[in-house]
Amino acid sequence: MAANRKILSLPGDGIGPEVMRQVGRVVEWFDKKRIASFDVVEDLVGGAAYDKYGTPLAEETMKKAQECDAVLFGAVGGTKWDSLPFAVKPERGLLRLRKEMDLFANLRPALVFDPLIGASTLKPEIIEGLDIMIIRELTGGTYFGEPRGITTLPDGQRRGVNTQVYTTSEIIRVGRVAFELARKRSNKVCSVEKANVMESGQLWREEMQKLHDAEYQDVELSHMYADNCAMQLVRNPKQFDVIVTDNLFGDLLSDCAAMLTGSLGMLPSASLGAPDSSGRRKALYEPVHGSAPDIAGKDAANPLACMLSLAMMLRYSFDLKEEADVVETAVKNALNRGVRTRDIMQPGMTAVSTTEMGNAVLEELQKIGG
Ligand code: NAD
Repeated sequence: MAANRKILSLPGDGIGPEVMRQVGRVVEWFDKKRIASFDVVEDLVGGAAYDKYGTPLAEETMKKAQECDAVLFGAVGGTKWDSLPFAVKPERGLLRLRKEMDLFANLRPALVFDPLIGASTLKPEIIEGLDIMIIRELTGGTYFGEPRGITTLPDGQRRGVNTQVYTTSEIIRVGRVAFELARKRSNKVCSVEKANVMESGQLWREEMQKLHDAEYQDVELSHMYADNCAMQLVRNPKQFDVIVTDNLFGDLLSDCAAMLTGSLGMLPSASLGAPDSSGRRKALYEPVHGSAPDIAGKDAANPLACMLSLAMMLRYSFDLKEEADVVETAVKNALNRGVRTRDIMQPGMTAVSTTEMGNAVLEELQKIGG
């Protein structure tokens, strides 16, 4: 089968390569079964790239990222590189990828797998069957706005400034991602800001409403203040389908929603750019967790967040919906067998290594795909 889907695999540091190895097995399985094939190119990023090239992201790697259909990213960072200057820290490699690929929409699903209901701190009835998607604007707002900085005032006090700023086009492009995605889900978007106290929030609300009225009237749109949204997420999270919000509020609310599911080792994410003339979006998929130096090299990491990131890639970059479903079902079935890596361990379950969890998923894939 001709492989015309180009993936750049960047395992990175710490547990990155360990979890990515298990994802590689799933990709190989698809290829062997002649279900879908991919051209996978692997390269270095983060501390591993610094050790070899003196930079956390080599020019050549950046070029490959721009040219491929999707980037699959493991994790970067570790104590070995903690004392490096800011400009060459491993994390700068990821930030450069996000910036130069202009990945402005960050998708973080909060999905509760039935076998893991006990891992959440919330009551089972609140989170059972939960499936929400938070879309965070990733390249604008407070984290990038000018003016910014720390100055010393004439009276000797110091003053720190950051600026919350959004333009119409920045709001509309992330709004479009939210409405399009909602159409493939339960058709509901909740747009979140603080229009009551911030002009940028007022603009956000007005532009979202205008976009909705002009192009997406079939989708149900509601607006909510960010502080209320934080409360609603823990009070009744199932009221939401797609939440779209700015960079700062999205940072906080996506972490809050993530913990509804109980475990960092289970959380995938996608970061998308604008579609080009052929409709192809630049995209990077990665687990939410970091490089976990405390367990790196011990075959103890949970590979499921990275495997679920692959499922997001199949769904959003390659429109391979059934194949994405197959991966997600295999993950769910593996959990149903009672195997657990130590981050999601529960009484009465069987503790397994990274490789063994990979084995369980592969066996379940085999059962589904024959
Ligand atoms: P972390 O996510 O690496 O680890 C937090 C805790 O969760 C640790 O106890 C770790 O063992 C555990 N954990 C994380 N992923 C796990 C998995 N898949 N399976 C089992 N347990 C898991 O966050 P941290 O400790 O704050 O950061 C460690 C390093 O990772 C730092 O250098 C940080 O800068 C970097 N980091 C990188 C990214 C990224 O690459 N996107 C994200 C966050 C942190």
